[in-house]
Amino acid sequence: MHVLIVGGGIGGLSTALTLHQLGISCAVYEAVSELKPLGVGINLQTYSVRELFNLGLEETLLDAGISAEGMAYFTRRGQHLLTDKIGSAAGFDWPQLHMHRGAFQMILAREVQRRLGPDALRLGHQCVNVEQHGGQVTAHFQDRRTGASLEPATGDILIAADGINSSVRPLFYKNEKPPHWNRTIMWRGITEGVRILDGHTMCVTGLHHHKFVCYHIKKPAEERREGESNLLLNWICELKAPDDMEFRPESWNRAGDMSEFLPAFEPWRFDWIDVPEIVTRHLGIWEFPMVDRDPLPQWTFGRVALLGDAAHPLTPVGSNGASLAVIDARILGRELAMRPDDPEAALEAYEADRRPALTRILQSNRKGGPEEFMPLVEERAPDGFDDIHDVLSEEELQTAANYRAMTGLTTDSVNAVRSLIPTELFVN
Ligand SMILES: Cc1cc2nc3c(=O)[nH]c(=O)nc-3n(C[C@H](O)[C@H](O)[C@H](O)COP(=O)(O)OP(=O)(O)OC[C@H]3O[C@@H](n4cnc5c(N)ncnc54)[C@H](O)[C@@H]3O)c2cc1C
Repeated sequence: MHVLIVGGGIGGLSTALTLHQLGISCAVYEAVSELKPLGVGINLQTYSVRELFNLGLEETLLDAGISAEGMAYFTRRGQHLLTDKIGSAAGFDWPQLHMHRGAFQMILAREVQRRLGPDALRLGHQCVNVEQHGGQVTAHFQDRRTGASLEPATGDILIAADGINSSVRPLFYKNEKPPHWNRTIMWRGITEGVRILDGHTMCVTGLHHHKFVCYHIKKPAEERREGESNLLLNWICELKAPDDMEFRPESWNRAGDMSEFLPAFEPWRFDWIDVPEIVTRHLGIWEFPMVDRDPLPQWTFGRVALLGDAAHPLTPVGSNGASLAVIDARILGRELAMRPDDPEAALEAYEADRRPALTRILQSNRKGGPEEFMPLVEERAPDGFDDIHDVLSEEELQTAANYRAMTGLTTDSVNAVRSLIPTELFVN
C-alpha cells in the first residue's frame, strides 16, 4: 500500500512517521518550497506526548520542550481563581510539553527525511486536485510560486492534512463558507528575559474577548546560546474586534500592530505579571483571527480522508489542536495496519473513532471550553472576592478539569494505555 499525504504540518508529518513505523509506504507533499520554523508556542498534551515517545522522539522532545505543570486562571484584575496541576505534576506518566511550534514541526520533518529518505518529503507541491479511479487516487500539484503544473502522484489512499485552508476539503464540500470568525482577534507574541510564576505554569487571565494567555517555551535548538536562559515567554492577547472592522483573513505570517491592542491591556500590571511591559518588549507579534469551521458530517470519501485541521479546525481555547492531529495520525495508522487489504474500511474505522469526539470538542470550544466558568466570576463578583468558593460552586470550579476529561485527559485514561497502536504492529 502507498499513501499520499497532502500537507507537511504537524498532522501530515506525524502521519508519515506513524506509517513508516508500521511499514506502510508513504510520501508527504507540502505546498511551501522551504520549511521554516513558523509559529510561536503550542501545547503537546500528555496523550500525544505518549504517542510521540512511542515514535522514538522522547529525547529530542524533552530537549525542545518545557514540562507544563500548572494551569492557572486569573480574573482581569489579576486576582487568582484557581490552579490545576497538569502533566507529570498531576500524576500522568508522560509530561505535557510547551514548545515552539516551528521547532516541533522541524523535528518531525527532519525525522521524516532521516527515516523515510529525502524523497519522502516533497516540498513546493501544492495540491490542487484529487481524482479517484479504479482503486487508486491521483493527486495533482502545482508550484505555488509560479503556478506551473507538476507531475501528479498516484497512491492507494490519500490523507489530506493540509490545514484549516485545505484544498482537498472543498472538493467534497463545494459550498462551504469561509472559516467562522467569532470576532475575536489574537495577537501572538514572544518576549525574552521574563519569568512568570514558576516557569512551568500556563496562565489565563481575563475573559473571552479580553484575555491574556502566556506560558514559557524554549528557543529552538539552533538559536540557543551557551550561558543564556534560552527561555521565551509565549503570549497571546485577545480582544473583541471593533464592530466596523472587516475580517482580515487568517495567515500565520501576518505581523501584528501593538497599538491596536496594547491600550486595552494598559491597566494589567499586577504583582505577579506586567502585561504591557511584556508586550512592549516583544521579539515579534503575529495577528490571527479566532476562527474555526463547522463540524463535518463525513471525513472519508472512498480512498480519501481528512485529518488534523483540515478535518476539524477548532477555536483555540483548549490548547489541543496539535495534539489532536497527532492522535488522528496514530488512529489512522492503527486502522490501516489492522486492515491492510481494505483501506476504505480502515479509513471509515478511523473516522468512526475520531469524528464524534472531535465534534464534541469543537462544540465545547465554541462555548469557551475549559474557560466557560470565567465569565461567571465577572458577573457575580465584578469587584473581586475573598474566597472563590463564595463565587463558584464546586461543579463550576471543575469546569476546566471536566473539559480535559472530555478530551480524554484524565490520569486513569491516559496512563492505562501504553500506546494507541499495539506495539506488535511496529515494523520499524
Ligand atoms: C505556519 C503555521 C504557523 C502556525 N503557528 C501556530 C502557533 O503559533 N500556535 C498554534 O497553536 N498553532 C499554530 N499553527 C496551527 C497548528 O499547527 C495546527 O492547528 C495544528 O498543529 C494542526 O496541524 P495540521 O497538520 O492539521 O495543520 P498545519 O499545522 O496548519 O499544517 C498544514 C500544512 O499543510 C500545508 N498546505 C496547505 N495547503 C496545502 C496544499 N494545497 N497542498 C500541500 N500542502 C498544503 C501548509 O503549508 C502546512 O504546512 C500554525 C500553522 C501554520 C501552518
